Amino acid sequence: MRKGKLLVVSGPSGAGKSTISQRAAKECEIFLSVSATTRPPRQGEDERHYIFLTQEEFQKKIDENAFLEYANVYGQYYGTLRKPVLEMMEQGKNVLLEIDVQGSMQVKKAYDECEMVFVLPPSLNELKRRLKARKSETEEQYNLRVAKALEEIAIAPQYDYLVINEEIDSAVMQLKEVISSLDRKMKYHVDFIHAYMEEEKDI
Ligand code: 5GP
Repeated sequence: MRKGKLLVVSGPSGAGKSTISQRAAKECEIFLSVSATTRPPRQGEDERHYIFLTQEEFQKKIDENAFLEYANVYGQYYGTLRKPVLEMMEQGKNVLLEIDVQGSMQVKKAYDECEMVFVLPPSLNELKRRLKARKSETEEQYNLRVAKALEEIAIAPQYDYLVINEEIDSAVMQLKEVISSLDRKMKYHVDFIHAYMEEEKDI
């Protein structure tokens, strides 16, 4: 069976990548990977959102090389477990990873076949406005996130697709278009083309 494809959705904090990914995955044929994290659950979150681990449990998985990628994001660890992702791909299912920029670069290095999507608000001013609107953050945390976002945006040209999140429905639609175009990429159909040409020899 043909293997599934890996789609990585990333972008700076405040871009809205998690909301967009969840909605697009609900409406498309793609498996949304559930990450492991050391951060405590927020209200309403359960094992459908994250696999919640202690620092020790997370470290054990690092030592066992169980992660496809992992990163420390603002003081908490987040990582993608290798096994469930590879199992889905082996079954021919496409998999979506919604992860931070550091982690996405690790995936790109390990799997040059993956497709990479960068999500951005329509302008830097809008990104700053969204970060500011997170009332839970101090001025220092806000400044840190803006500085980090600028570093991350500088490497956006290494990605394959850009999704602009000005308005949520439109951003979901853009991501769904990327998901449905995955299976049309010629690079995944070279075997089919070869078999097609072989037919000529049999006639
Ligand atoms: P939050 O705590 O708000 O759910 O997520 C914080 C950040 O961690 C987001 O940028 C999110 O994309 C990122 N993140 C979530 N899961 C993973 C993961 O498995 N690996 C990496 N590298 N980042 C992740």
